[in-house]
Amino acid sequence: MKVDALRLIGVQRRYLQGDTPLEILRGAELALRPGEAVALTAPSGAGKSTLLHVAGLLERPDAGDVIVRGASTSAMSDDGRTALRRSSIGFVYQFHHLLPEFTARENVMMPQMIRGLDKREAGRRADELLAYLGLGAREAHRPAELSGGEQQRVAIARAVANAPHVLLADEPTGNLDPRTADHVFETLMALVRATGLAALVATHNFDLAQRMDRRITLRDGLIVETK
Ligand code: ADP
Repeated sequence: MKVDALRLIGVQRRYLQGDTPLEILRGAELALRPGEAVALTAPSGAGKSTLLHVAGLLERPDAGDVIVRGASTSAMSDDGRTALRRSSIGFVYQFHHLLPEFTARENVMMPQMIRGLDKREAGRRADELLAYLGLGAREAHRPAELSGGEQQRVAIARAVANAPHVLLADEPTGNLDPRTADHVFETLMALVRATGLAALVATHNFDLAQRMDRRITLRDGLIVETK
């Protein structure tokens, strides 16, 4: 049996509001298998971003464990978590957050070079990914010279540049018109199918949620499956 790409076990996360603790996650459980796309839909304030931050090793849970491809992270040092995040987890946000002074190609090369790959190898991978995402002719463009859909596809290419096992997306099509959203979503799904990446996608878009393999929501700090 293939090892889960990501598992959450009894994840708790609370914030202090003044003296009052806000219990956002109260024992969240989740298993993401390689090659599956899971939609996360919940009302604003339910804890979707918190869940994605904890799952993406950007925040530590107050209790419980995040397991990335069989590796428990609860006892890992911050450096260990950062290294694991860089190699195994990709992020896509509602706004592309591309570096404006760099080209599409350079934006996709960046995370690879931060991870220690040499420039030629990073460039080769960027070319391959951008061509796969239909952006071969846009490589030398800066973000301002790209359409919203193109910017978001470059952001997806950047997120998977280091061949992560898990992709975490927070409203990746939330800022796009319906047709462009559809195209960007299809690009993302094609990537999931082709690479065996596991994707957790927070979205308010009911139609896109229905096209993923499973749907989950947050209820009273717990993850529950929905139809
Ligand atoms: P969602 O993404 O579903 O809208 P969030 O995860 O952003 O929800 O937030 C869940 C709740 O936790 C909200 O009530 C929010 O105000 C609170 N919250 C989030 N981050 C912090 C923080 N760093 N400090 C205090 N409260 C926070």
